[in-house]
Amino acid sequence: MRNGSTNQSGKILATSDEFVPTAFHLPGELPGLPLDESEPVHWQVAMKRAIRSSQQLRKAVRLPPDSAEVLGAEGKLAGERNFPTFAPLEFVARIEPSNPDDPLLRQVLPVTAEEVEQAGFAADPVGDLNALVSPGVLHKYEGRALILTTSACGIHCRYCFRREFPYQQTGSRKDEWLPSIEYLQNQPEIEEVILSGGDPLTTTDEKLDQLISALEDIPHLKRLRLHSRMPIVIPQRITEELVERLSSSRLSAWMVVHANHPQELSESVLARIAKLIDSGIPVLNQAVLLRGVNDQTEVLAELCRRLVNHRIQPYYLHQLDRVRGATHFEVPVETGLKMIDSLRAVLPGYAVPQYVHEEAGKKSKSPILDNTRKVNF
Ligand SMILES: *Cc1c(COP(=O)(O)O)cnc(C)c1O
Ligand code: SF4
Repeated sequence: MRNGSTNQSGKILATSDEFVPTAFHLPGELPGLPLDESEPVHWQVAMKRAIRSSQQLRKAVRLPPDSAEVLGAEGKLAGERNFPTFAPLEFVARIEPSNPDDPLLRQVLPVTAEEVEQAGFAADPVGDLNALVSPGVLHKYEGRALILTTSACGIHCRYCFRREFPYQQTGSRKDEWLPSIEYLQNQPEIEEVILSGGDPLTTTDEKLDQLISALEDIPHLKRLRLHSRMPIVIPQRITEELVERLSSSRLSAWMVVHANHPQELSESVLARIAKLIDSGIPVLNQAVLLRGVNDQTEVLAELCRRLVNHRIQPYYLHQLDRVRGATHFEVPVETGLKMIDSLRAVLPGYAVPQYVHEEAGKKSKSPILDNTRKVNF
């Protein structure tokens, strides 16, 4: 299935490389539009000109504005008051205009469904605040520590488990990594540092270089992993300097990107990621299972196929963390298990991600497995 056309009723919008537009024309009502991804602006400019309100986003994708009743005095939905809209034009350009069900739009557009309260959906669903071992450091799993590099992201995903994360309380203030470095120096069992956030690639190359240099000076560290959605949402963030810095590091560098739908993987995204892989940096992908985005086998299979066609390995498929405001994204575990089974039937083993969930207090991500299937030796 390489040439699907619509994303209604289980079909996929973008399945062939040719289909994803590199130049995409929107009504010229917003600065920076129409957008030509083949001539990218500097990634920091892309951040600055990103869309920052739900009504502006609706306008950009040619949807009617929300009614005055649901909008507050500031013209915002309740859900975007504590977690603002943030969508770079590079990502918006991959959304099908006038389609309220577009799988990319669904990930970034605040809706009134965010106000639904449901038991079990909490502000800190994975217990990260309890796992902070030092300001800005999470050390939950053996051998690996995760640095909350910054609180900024290149996009605001409405299902994000950190949507209410109180970064002010974590000590992860921008540019203040000294306590994290000191913690790592004193923990010889840690071999791998994961730069996460927020998104570590919203930090400048210069700052990142300082941080990486400090990590390289810690003798027991062997690997450096970056968890970033920037290569997907603002691909020009993969600068030549960044590729060079990571590939020449004393530490083995790995990159884990985050794409949920094949339509996110535009030509410019794939071209920039190829530069990382060509330089010797393995690139993996993690996705979140999301209702109305990738909860159909065909869509997920196409995502995985497109990833491995471009040498990116599907790593994890996350069951949604039950964060307040994201009830409308949840897919039942039974559905997820069936989808994984179907993927296994049509894809090579290395193209099937591990279906996992994060549980507070566990020593690793928990695999979600079908206990009803018996193995006979
Ligand atoms: C997910 C996560 C990791 C990395 O886990 P892997 O299974 O190695 O990918 C490390 N630390 C924390 C706190 C995490 O949430
Ligand atoms: S990029 Fe990652 S951390 Fe940032 S909002 Fe999206 S899912 Fe959350």
